[in-house]
Amino acid sequence: MTHTDALAGAIATPLIDHHCHGVSPADLDFKRFQALFSESYRPPAPGTTEFQKPLGLAIRRFCAPVLDLEPSCPAEAYVERRLALGAAEVNRRFLRGSGLDSLLVDTGLRSSEILDVPGMAESAGRPAREVVRIEAVAEEVAQSCGSGAAFPRAFADRLAERAQGAVGLKTIVAYRCTFKIDQTAPSEAEVVEAADRWFAAASFAGKWRLEDPTIVRHGLWLGGELCRQRKFPMQVHVGFGDPDVYMHACDPTHFTDFIAAMEKWEVAITLLHNYPFQREAAWLSEVFQNVYYDVGVILNYAAPMSRDILGEALEMGKFSKFLYSSDAFGLSELYYLGALLFRRGLQQVLDRWLEEDFCSLKDAEELIRLVAYENARRIYPLNT
Ligand SMILES: [Zn+2]
Repeated sequence: MTHTDALAGAIATPLIDHHCHGVSPADLDFKRFQALFSESYRPPAPGTTEFQKPLGLAIRRFCAPVLDLEPSCPAEAYVERRLALGAAEVNRRFLRGSGLDSLLVDTGLRSSEILDVPGMAESAGRPAREVVRIEAVAEEVAQSCGSGAAFPRAFADRLAERAQGAVGLKTIVAYRCTFKIDQTAPSEAEVVEAADRWFAAASFAGKWRLEDPTIVRHGLWLGGELCRQRKFPMQVHVGFGDPDVYMHACDPTHFTDFIAAMEKWEVAITLLHNYPFQREAAWLSEVFQNVYYDVGVILNYAAPMSRDILGEALEMGKFSKFLYSSDAFGLSELYYLGALLFRRGLQQVLDRWLEEDFCSLKDAEELIRLVAYENARRIYPLNT
């Protein structure tokens, strides 16, 4: 028996997807379908399609058979079959085929276009819990609270209310302000002044996108306090996973001061995505007691090369701090592929460790249990 065969049972264990989003309930034509597996706001270059990259290959190779098509069928045939089956059936097949234990769903991104948390639970046939995005709540409150003076109280109340049934909070400070910012808490007077400035500019422009670093910093500390009280993690977006980033300033090691402050409060920080900073994230998990990390989203985008990235993430990474996420958004294919590529990659990495006699089969099986669900269960309040 090869090592691969020996690990097959353990690797099939259900995964907790600790960072994911809703999928689209709409029947998607070619243009809309390919837009949902691009990390850019721009359409593909003239004369090209999104299928001409590793993720496109993986969709045609691994997702086509789930829709009763030949592996690697033409892209047009894939989209046609998807339309013929209807979005509800397609989503059901991919979500139920992902082998998930449960889903922790970030509801702060384009929530009107995708299934909500109960909708995701129903489609997946598995429990789904909510993670609340701090900046999205600030934007929602800003539009109704009237004056800067009323903002701190209204924001605190709404965030606490939204966190009631949630299992964690999430911040996107990285792509609103980068990590290279002052990481101390602003004073209430500074928050009020910044809120007045924000409201005036936003009402004039008709856009409520939060980019003011003072308000974002305030949200971090308000969120941190809530995480401390509720004893649940703060998820922190890092690196790849959104087009509007200054990537060089999204290295999570710039965020050390805030991470250290949260460590004192015993708040777990879960670093999401991390690519191309998976090594920096692993290092932070080694140094700080409260840091956890994943390599969600990039496994889908790297597809055949995803094993190498997973290998880098595990070079020095603590198995007790590494988590699984798909970061799927919009397409249920991204749930399915995320789980498939994670299992394949992890199996290939562990196979090598077994081959080279760095661990026993029992060690490998324990590592799989930790990253598949035990680490997530330890830090998220999933039984409440
Ligand atoms: Zn995400």
